[in-house]
Amino acid sequence: MELPSYSCVLCTHNKEETLFHLILECPFAQECWINIGLFANLTEEPYNILNSLRIQLQTVFTQVVLRVKEEWKQSMLEWLEHIL
Ligand SMILES: [Zn+2]
Repeated sequence: MELPSYSCVLCTHNKEETLFHLILECPFAQECWINIGLFANLTEEPYNILNSLRIQLQTVFTQVVLRVKEEWKQSMLEWLEHIL
């Protein structure tokens, strides 16, 4: 099957829409990673980049869980103070 274009439609760099580009290299993808607090070092090998993202994601997830626990605890304390 041939397509009219193989260029990425998410950026203006006229780059071929490879898996590497879509997930890691595309500025749109990079902005998505940055928005959730992850950094993709494109000078590394793809496996190392994905492994780094996995480790960073675990850290971000742990921070989110701790923040939710703290906010839940604070809400419960305020509720208890209100009813007692
Ligand atoms: Zn792109």
